[in-house]
Amino acid sequence: MRFVALTLFLAASVARADLSEADLATAARLRDSALASPLAYELVTSLTTEVGSRMAGSPGDERAVAWAVARLKRLGFANVRAEPFKFTAWKRGPGHAQITAPYPHRLVMTALGNSVPTPPEGLEAEVAYYPDFAALRADKSDRARGKIVFIDQKTERLRFGATYGSAVAARTSGASEAAKRGAIASVIRSIGTDHDRMAHTGAMLYQADAPRIPAIAVSVPDADTIARIAKDANASPLRLKLVVATEPEVPATSHNVIAEIEGTDLAKDIVLIGAHLDSWDEGTGAIDDGAGVGIVVGAAKAILDSGSKPRRTIRVVLFGNEEKVVDGSRAYGEKYKDVRHQMVGESDFGAGRPWRFATRVTPAALPVMAQIEKVLVPLDMARGDNDANTGPDAALLSRRHGWPTLHADQDGSDYFNYHHTPNDTLDKVDPAAMRVNVAAWSVMAWLAAQSDVEFGPLPREPGP
Ligand code: ZN
Ligand code: ZN
Repeated sequence: MRFVALTLFLAASVARADLSEADLATAARLRDSALASPLAYELVTSLTTEVGSRMAGSPGDERAVAWAVARLKRLGFANVRAEPFKFTAWKRGPGHAQITAPYPHRLVMTALGNSVPTPPEGLEAEVAYYPDFAALRADKSDRARGKIVFIDQKTERLRFGATYGSAVAARTSGASEAAKRGAIASVIRSIGTDHDRMAHTGAMLYQADAPRIPAIAVSVPDADTIARIAKDANASPLRLKLVVATEPEVPATSHNVIAEIEGTDLAKDIVLIGAHLDSWDEGTGAIDDGAGVGIVVGAAKAILDSGSKPRRTIRVVLFGNEEKVVDGSRAYGEKYKDVRHQMVGESDFGAGRPWRFATRVTPAALPVMAQIEKVLVPLDMARGDNDANTGPDAALLSRRHGWPTLHADQDGSDYFNYHHTPNDTLDKVDPAAMRVNVAAWSVMAWLAAQSDVEFGPLPREPGP
């Protein structure tokens, strides 16, 4: 009896960790060939040079979609297509801001995406200073009424960007929290880790129960100036003037661009590796997310050129309008909700070197993850936990549809120096680090496509 039980146990173990020696050997070859491929860097160079900034709904966005379709066809992928979705675009007009009292200063600013405009003549008012977003949320007083709220929320530098989530709430929700307290406009310290005189844009969202007030960010050095004056008890009240032209809620159409390597016996199952094609208008979208576009297309091309056919269909998705926010992902999920996805992953954290292999899979698939990890170790990647954070588009799909995630966590120590600024340009992309990312994604996608074990489904998490 004991012998039988042991045999059954061994059989079960073998069935769970199923990747064949041949598939693992192909993965190692893919990894090594990707490390020598210039394609990913060529793609981000081409996208940032020939298209440049590509805010969803802009002419640049249209050019980016055309660029991606042409490139993916030329690279030899199957079923290349641009799938349309409707959304409301936002247009930026000119804006400026200044300290008018007690000491006049011109401020380096940018309007936050989705912000309403000020009246053409602008708004001028005394400042209600809050050291961080938590302080604003905790304020039950009338202090902000009729004023311009300034939120001095700092962004801490971390390898994994873990504090971005808490800092960014000041950007996304600051204006509505200020408006609920009677403020007429909201100004934040840029969500960024640099000290450059450059403001970081990004999406803000209005809550339904608050008046819509204009929302801008100022550069970190300008935030320092505002804070010094606000904290100076001897200075007379600090006043700001903002003039911001924007056009919110413009009906628009954009596209998710899709390309495939068709699978064989499990072709109906999808292994999705994605990035987002849109960018902000301030820079050329090199690290956010031109790098991701190059990485996942490069990874898929390595598989296409390997001569080995994947069992599942490998699908590259270049999502539209991630930035304001994840409309392309929602449209994709709606369209493909009944299709089984073995994996959804998105490279959207710049071009930094990958240092950790993170997953979100069903426990039965963990032995397979251990096999994949072994192929990634030569890239100096450590094993992360089974609660991966992937890019926002794929993360939404994973939560909403219960689709598993594999992800290459990148070193993002300097990512928030450049993110959403005019400084997000090609010179910030390290070609060697990009190649390591391509290697990691080609290994993950290939082995996800080959596994006998299904990585999901996971419990669905309803959400916005
Ligand atoms: Zn991004
Ligand atoms: Zn972004």
